[in-house]
Amino acid sequence: MSFLAKNYNRRNISFTKGKGSYLYSSKGKKYLDFVQGIAVNSLGHAHPKLIKVINNQTKKLWHVSNSFVIPEGELLAKKLAKKTFADYVMFQNSGAEATEAAIKVARRYFYSIGKPKKNRILCIKNSFHGRTIAAIFASGSKKMTEGFGPKINGFDHFKFGDHYSLKKKIGKNTAAIMVEPIMGEGGIKVIPDWCLRELRKLCDKKKILLILDEVQCGISRSGDFFAYEKAKVKPDIVPIAKGIGGGFPIGAVLMNKKVAKSMIPGTHGSTFGGNPLAMAVGNKVMDIVSSKKFLNNVKKLSKYFLSNLNNLKNRYPNIIKEVRGRGLLIGLQLHNDQSKFIKKLTENKFLTIRAAENVVRLLPPLNVKKNELDQALKIINKVCAEH
Ligand SMILES: *Cc1c(COP(=O)(O)O)cnc(C)c1O
Repeated sequence: MSFLAKNYNRRNISFTKGKGSYLYSSKGKKYLDFVQGIAVNSLGHAHPKLIKVINNQTKKLWHVSNSFVIPEGELLAKKLAKKTFADYVMFQNSGAEATEAAIKVARRYFYSIGKPKKNRILCIKNSFHGRTIAAIFASGSKKMTEGFGPKINGFDHFKFGDHYSLKKKIGKNTAAIMVEPIMGEGGIKVIPDWCLRELRKLCDKKKILLILDEVQCGISRSGDFFAYEKAKVKPDIVPIAKGIGGGFPIGAVLMNKKVAKSMIPGTHGSTFGGNPLAMAVGNKVMDIVSSKKFLNNVKKLSKYFLSNLNNLKNRYPNIIKEVRGRGLLIGLQLHNDQSKFIKKLTENKFLTIRAAENVVRLLPPLNVKKNELDQALKIINKVCAEH
C-alpha cells in the first residue's frame, strides 16, 4: 500500500535512472520520455555538464540566507536581465510562487503610486498559473477551485480569443492582465503575435501592467528564449520556473525598473529561493539553452517534428484533429478523449502527458536528437494505425 496522498492519478511505472531523452523503469524497460518532468528537464536526464556543476557546488556551499549576498544568484539575475526585457529578478522555488510574486509586484506597484484600489488581475478563463490558493482562483477554473473557498477576490476572467470580453472586463480597478503566451496545461494554445502586440497596446492605453506567465513556454521551449520575443513586445512582469533549473526546483519573477521600484526591503522573501546550489545549476542551464546556436537547433528540430506530425494528421484525419504549438512545446489535439491514446503510446515505450481539450502533450528535451523524434513519430504512426 502507498502512504502517499491520493491527489494524483499515478501511472503504475517507476524509474530507476534516466539518460538524455530516455528513462529506465524498475522493470528494466527503456522509455522515450517526452514528458521530461513536464517541460522541466530542458536538457534531458543526467546531463553531464549539470552533474558536474551540481557536484562541484555540493562540496562548496548549498544554502545561505537571502539576508546575505549570494554571488551565484547575482550572476544568474544579471544573465537574465541582459538577455531579456528585465531590469530586476527575484528568485523563488516553483512556478506557483513565481506567479504569486508577479501578482504581488503588480499590486504593490499601484499601491506605491498611490492607487491601492487598482489591484485586480485579469486572466483567461480556465488558464493555469499554479496550485496555491491565489493561483487557483487566478485560473478561474471550477475544477481547480471546487471545495477551496472562500473565493479569493481580485481576479476577473475573459474567454481565450474573446477580444470583446477582454476589453469589457478591464475596469478602473484592473492592475494587470496575466496570460501565458502559449497555454500549456490549457491545451497548447498559442496567442498569435499580433494579439500579444494588441494586448501590449491595450495595457499601455489603459495604463495597466502586462504579466506574461512563461513558466512553461519560457527558457527556450518555444524556440526563442521567451515565447513573447517573437511578437517583439515587452512585458512588465514575467514569472518563470520549470525549464530554468533543468530538474532542480527554481522559480523567479522578472520585472522592469518601473514596477521593481515598489519592491522595497521587507515586501517579499523566500527562505530557499535563489540559494547557491539552485543558482549554480540555473546558471549552467541558462548558459547552454540561451545561446543562439542552441536556439537555432530547437527551431530546426521543431520545424522537422511539426511538419512530420502534420503529415500524420493528414494520414489520420479521423484521429488527429490539430497539431498545435511552437518550438518543442507541442500538442496533438485528438477528436476524442486522449487517455487511451496516451496509454497505447506508453505500452509502446513512449511517455507523453495530457493537456486540456483532448491534447496529447509532447515535451521532448530541448537537446533531443533527430532520430529520437523519428522514433516518436514511428510510435505515434503505429498507435494511430491500430486505433
Ligand atoms: C506549471 C505551471 C505553473 C505552476 O508551476 P509549479 O512549479 O507547479 O508551481 C504556473 N504557470 C504555468 C504556465 C505552468 O505551466
